[in-house]
Amino acid sequence: MARIPGTPLETLELPEDPPKQTDPCWCRSGIEFGKCHFERHLQPRESPWSALKEASRLNDAKYCGHPLASPVTCSGKIVRAHTVQLEGALSTIAVDRHVYGLAMKDGRLEYGLIGLRKASTFSGFCSYHDAELFRALETKPFTATKEQLFLLAYRALSKEVYAKRYAIRTIPLQRRQDKGSDALHQVNVQSYLYLREQALRLGLRDLESAIADYDKALLARDHDRFSGYLVFTDKTPDLAVSAAMFPEFDFQANALQSLSSAECLDLLTYTVLPMSSGGVIAFVWDSKSARSCEKLVASLDRLPMRELPDALIRFTYEYFENCFANPLWWDSLSGVQRERLLARINLAVSPTDDRTPDCLKDDGLRTARWNVIAKEWF
Ligand SMILES: [Zn+2]
Ligand SMILES: [Zn+2]
Repeated sequence: MARIPGTPLETLELPEDPPKQTDPCWCRSGIEFGKCHFERHLQPRESPWSALKEASRLNDAKYCGHPLASPVTCSGKIVRAHTVQLEGALSTIAVDRHVYGLAMKDGRLEYGLIGLRKASTFSGFCSYHDAELFRALETKPFTATKEQLFLLAYRALSKEVYAKRYAIRTIPLQRRQDKGSDALHQVNVQSYLYLREQALRLGLRDLESAIADYDKALLARDHDRFSGYLVFTDKTPDLAVSAAMFPEFDFQANALQSLSSAECLDLLTYTVLPMSSGGVIAFVWDSKSARSCEKLVASLDRLPMRELPDALIRFTYEYFENCFANPLWWDSLSGVQRERLLARINLAVSPTDDRTPDCLKDDGLRTARWNVIAKEWF
């Protein structure tokens, strides 16, 4: 979701003449040239450790995302809200309390082991609001009530908004990573980050408009304006996801909406909830977004049952960075299989490459170790 295809994103060019010290820098950081890229190649490189430390500090930026958040109502302590129920869900796909999570390594998303405590968490709400908000999910068995489905959607969207804001906050940090390198490398790094920031901001605009609607529904306890589709699995699916996306193409390569539209886009939330026996995959959307979401899901529903698991895996890797995997499953795949799934998610975060309409069509890859036993519109 990093890129809005069709939107003319400008690119950076090096100025022909050396800028003045007080000119805005060519990299469009908003900083004066003299304090930014002037003699950048001579500046000491930043240590990866200090960058990591600073990034994690930004991730801990304290704020509560609840619509009623205020110094009076909030508990002060921000918890790392779990985007899928931590003990109940993630532990079912963990090995020695670790799952695989995606992280950037040499400019590419790769899987690495992360502890359950760190997996899928974000400092999205204060402890009071986190407990209050998700009580119906965290303290009751999952029976797919309207409230539970709304909460899955709310949590998925909150996570997406938080992740996008965080990604934007880390851009200035990443912009400094070209210190001590030659001009060509500087232009490449800055161009990539400049495009990425524009794409992130475009995505955030629509996510923020959606979360405003979700907040209204939350406060009014208006769960009826949400619809969705549930898929139940026989064994524990080897994945856990809680995220949101803008439907673009369906499973038969039909276009659903143009992501370059100036209108607010239809938004779909997606949750893969593994359980100790079986699991549920939930597509939930607000009635405002019904048009594209219903078409996308209908195209999935038309597939034969036996093809659904791999279709869902394609969909997951096509769109969601926030995708945790069972290490036993992932390690059981061949190098080619892993590469083909990772290629999808790396395309998703590329600011320069577009998806093709047939991205969700059957590519022949078979990696699922579970079956779909039931599906249901609600
Ligand atoms: Zn600069
Ligand atoms: Zn709060």
